[in-house]
Amino acid sequence: MAKLDGKIALISGGTSGIGAETAKLFQSEGATVVVTGSSKRSVEAAKAALPRIEVLLSDASNVAATKALVDQVNAKHGRIDVLFVNAGIAKFSPIEQVDEAFYDSQFNINVKGAFFLIKHAIPIIPDGGAIILTASVAGANGGLGGSTIYGSTKAALRSFGRTIAKELTPRGIRVNTISPGPIVTPILDKGGLTPAQKDNFIEGAKTRIPLGRTGTAAEVAAAALYLAADATYTTGAELFVDGGLIDL
Ligand code: NAD
Repeated sequence: MAKLDGKIALISGGTSGIGAETAKLFQSEGATVVVTGSSKRSVEAAKAALPRIEVLLSDASNVAATKALVDQVNAKHGRIDVLFVNAGIAKFSPIEQVDEAFYDSQFNINVKGAFFLIKHAIPIIPDGGAIILTASVAGANGGLGGSTIYGSTKAALRSFGRTIAKELTPRGIRVNTISPGPIVTPILDKGGLTPAQKDNFIEGAKTRIPLGRTGTAAEVAAAALYLAADATYTTGAELFVDGGLIDL
């Protein structure tokens, strides 16, 4: 039997990268999968790239839209068995150049978005359900540097994952966090790095990561499947998928 047979999975930020790869894996394990993206362009592209996966436009930083998203999933599917809270952005800048809008955009999507998605989804997550958060090694040890505010947002998520896990144990809902290291996904093209800076980042990652390479979205998806389906005695935990970068 497939690991997620008959399960309903909602993946925020599932139109590309880690979320899209996880959507494909969950679907191959029998789940009905709904993913969200933040732009019409990303949603249309994902509809073409992810056949038989429902792709919805929903801005994670908009609390009313997040509530409407959960209502829409509930109306069609009646519950969410696996909630993968994965939508996020990463912007790179020295602190001197960070302004309020730069700061708010990352906290609003990465932290506020995660909090309110979980808050609104809890009533339709049944006993036995699983929530998985995507944080980052940058939230633990600063990662490879250069992502000041981003790392802070992910540190907040790591803490939130632990506290909400304790709050939800009486309901039989497990909450766990994945903290990836550098994974080559479209996120690296969106954060303000020049192509040369991006190449430097990837090359630097290879020399500084103990396993000697960046990771793949598929490797993070495998961790998400483990936490969604196999890790039945694990809650409030954090799984680093970072090639050993946490130890540096
Ligand atoms: P990605 O850019 O390919 O995917 C990000 C997803 O989030 C996309 O589907 C995008 O549409 C969605 N998104 C962005 N803003 C949104 C918003 N306002 N509302 C709804 N959706 C929104 O990048 P990825 O690397 O797959 O990132 C997925 C998660 O992994 C993010 O939370 C990111 O911070 C985290 N992460 C990535 C890395 C890495 O190196 N790629 C490392 C650690 C953590």
